[in-house]
Amino acid sequence: MSYQNSIVIQGLCQNNLKNISLEIPKGKIVVFTGVSGSGKSSIVFDTIAAESQRQMNETYSAFVRGRLPKFEKPRADKIENLSASVVIDQTSLGGNARSTVGTISDMYAALRLLYSRIGEPHIGTPSYFSFNDPNGMCPECSGIGKVMTLDILPLIAEDKSLNEGMVDLSTFHVGNWYWKQYTESGLFDLDKKWRDYSEKERNLLLYGAEEPGGDRVSKQVEGIHNMMSRLLLKRDSSEMGETSAKRLASYVHPSECPLCHGKRLNAAALSCKVAGYSINELCEMELTELRNVLETITDSKGKSIAESLVLTLTRMIDIGLPYLSLNRESATLSGGEAQRLKLVRHMGSALTGMTYIFDEPSTGMHPRDVHRMTKLLCSLRDKGNTVLVVEHDKDVISIADEVIDIGPLAGRNGGEVLYQGSYKGLLGSGTLTGNAMQQKTPVKAMPRKPKEFLPVRDAAIHNLKNISIDIPLHVLTAVTGVAGSGKSSLIRDVFAEKCAEQVIFVDQSPVTATGRSTPATFLGFFDEIRKRMGKENDVGAALFSFNSKGACPNCKGKGVIITELVFMDPVTTTCEACGGSRYSDEALSYAYHGKNIVEILDMNAGEAETFFSDCPKIRKALHAMVEVGLSYLSLGQPLSTLSGGERQRVKLAKYLDQKGNIYVLDEPTTGLHASDIKKVMELLDGFVKRGNTVIVIEHNMDVVKLADYVIDIGPDGGSMGGEIVFTGTPQEMADHADTITAKYLRKSLE
Ligand code: ADP
Ligand code: ADP
Ligand code: ZN
Ligand code: ZN
Repeated sequence: MSYQNSIVIQGLCQNNLKNISLEIPKGKIVVFTGVSGSGKSSIVFDTIAAESQRQMNETYSAFVRGRLPKFEKPRADKIENLSASVVIDQTSLGGNARSTVGTISDMYAALRLLYSRIGEPHIGTPSYFSFNDPNGMCPECSGIGKVMTLDILPLIAEDKSLNEGMVDLSTFHVGNWYWKQYTESGLFDLDKKWRDYSEKERNLLLYGAEEPGGDRVSKQVEGIHNMMSRLLLKRDSSEMGETSAKRLASYVHPSECPLCHGKRLNAAALSCKVAGYSINELCEMELTELRNVLETITDSKGKSIAESLVLTLTRMIDIGLPYLSLNRESATLSGGEAQRLKLVRHMGSALTGMTYIFDEPSTGMHPRDVHRMTKLLCSLRDKGNTVLVVEHDKDVISIADEVIDIGPLAGRNGGEVLYQGSYKGLLGSGTLTGNAMQQKTPVKAMPRKPKEFLPVRDAAIHNLKNISIDIPLHVLTAVTGVAGSGKSSLIRDVFAEKCAEQVIFVDQSPVTATGRSTPATFLGFFDEIRKRMGKENDVGAALFSFNSKGACPNCKGKGVIITELVFMDPVTTTCEACGGSRYSDEALSYAYHGKNIVEILDMNAGEAETFFSDCPKIRKALHAMVEVGLSYLSLGQPLSTLSGGERQRVKLAKYLDQKGNIYVLDEPTTGLHASDIKKVMELLDGFVKRGNTVIVIEHNMDVVKLADYVIDIGPDGGSMGGEIVFTGTPQEMADHADTITAKYLRKSLE
């Protein structure tokens, strides 16, 4: 391998990495494998992507740099030959209600251009077709497609009069400001109960008029409904306390805009047609149908625009998103869908010589569709780019030009390069990954027989075709089907809504907004540790909190000192006084069983379980961490630095001893090594044994095989899905189901 043709890293010690050296070939697909927590992201994201970004940022002026995110230099002796890198991950595309698949893919902009060129009748420039521009937007909803309506009736007590506090709002409590305005208006019988009010009296109270929308009867009485609308919907909540504002917000419901019926555009824009369709009609179509329409456009002024749209649509369809439509709000896309959309955006650019970095691109994809995504990875490489991928899926790993396997285990027990070479070589390498690639999980021999069910009737949200299904209780159910078939719609939007009280979602999202949570605080045993330390030393427990009395006086508990420089980036240095520990000397001078607070938080869960063996409360929480496979995690590691899979398992640890719940997990295998899937399934099985119900939405066939019961949705995605195509045991599914999932289940058993 020529030195110039590879990224060279020497002496890398980032996070758990053990002084490793690597040469990563450029212009190839390199897949990083290894158990969760072994150090893959530490190499790919925290080192390669971060350093590449940092070096790019250094090329900007100090003025620009001051506005860019800061990246710390990775802990390595040498990092050479990096190229500019692009990270394509699963972070949400975010965006507000104005951001849609069409706007973020730039396809909507192209459609607007098309309409401004060949639309019938011609109404103006592209801005006249934009729902984000006053020229094009619906005047009623300002282009959102929805309006907020207020339902305040729940605030009114049927059997009370104004004198008895009829309206449950602090400003309307007897004697308060608004209450006085209404009672002094002379318009109301103060002792009449709401249920005895006439229609006219009700309207007076709600709208200040004899009928909704009518003329105000008195200056004093605006109407409760009008007042609340004004305060809430116009976002002028200054007149209201924050808590009332929050409580009232729960009475506000979005509903379809009565003028444009959700189409977001004004009448002129909607009247303009191309190929017989308004721009909104095209945006409502599934991508495959939209492509068909655009392919019929032959007008010379619009042909080239249509052709480039068809090209992008084909990429989106090929990568497994045919069921989306351009008007789908980007905030409603799943992580996997967002990642694939980002990939398509980059495929459209003609850059070469870049490093593209992917985080489990197979997430959210049915095995049927994974090869479509790997084809795009290959074409990125063939354009002359380096493609680095973190993956656990065999079908993705097998396309690697080179595999780099990290391990042997997680955290402190990982951080080494175990193998580098071809996929074939990996299979014979004897590593956990190599072995796992060759193992076949058999179907569960004795699945539990469901006896009790929760019925779902006539579900019709999104693409669901009015389906009725009994969801089994006290068993482990796998919900399967290709992406877009309707799994989340059924489970998250219908079933979980229906039994909201009982359902607990265990997902991979961050646990808190503050960066300060750790396993010790999240699982609730940090207080107990502080109490014990205080008691043993006869001091207050607050001394052992770096947010409070125990904070290092020099850095105020931050662990670092940030020095602002006028013309340069601020410099962050580890606090000299506490060495980054965040604690004051006094706090550190006390010990519990021979360890100070920092040494305790530095222990991993496994070590700490023994250390705290005489404190049942703490030991129980630590044991839960060990049970969910996080024994390597230290008690004080910020949760913000955990991978999604690790975060999900910390959450599972929190629920480990509860009973009678329904747990819903969306792709719990994301971020999990093949060798860990069985462990997680055993863990989930334990939840069922203890009297809970577990429902997993999954594409991984090993999970399907280990379930008690399978609900398969299909037959395909989007409008071609939304029906129940199979229910039964995994064995029955393998034996005789005629569905896409069944085909892949059989394949994985061969
Ligand atoms: P992988 O990508 O293989 O799942 P990571 O590289 O994310 O593993 O993590 C390797 C180890 O480093 C894990 O034990 C993880 O908890 C730890 N780690 C990751 N980020 C940080 C961080 N910012 N600070 C401290 N430890 C970290
Ligand atoms: P799955 O979970 O099986 O991938 P979903 O339930 O997410 O499938 O999607 C089923 C169908 O419903 C798809 O056509 C999808 O585009 C559509 N859909 C899902 N969520 C929304 C939403 N919030 N708004 C509009 N359509 C949606
Ligand atoms: Zn409207
Ligand atoms: Zn300090």
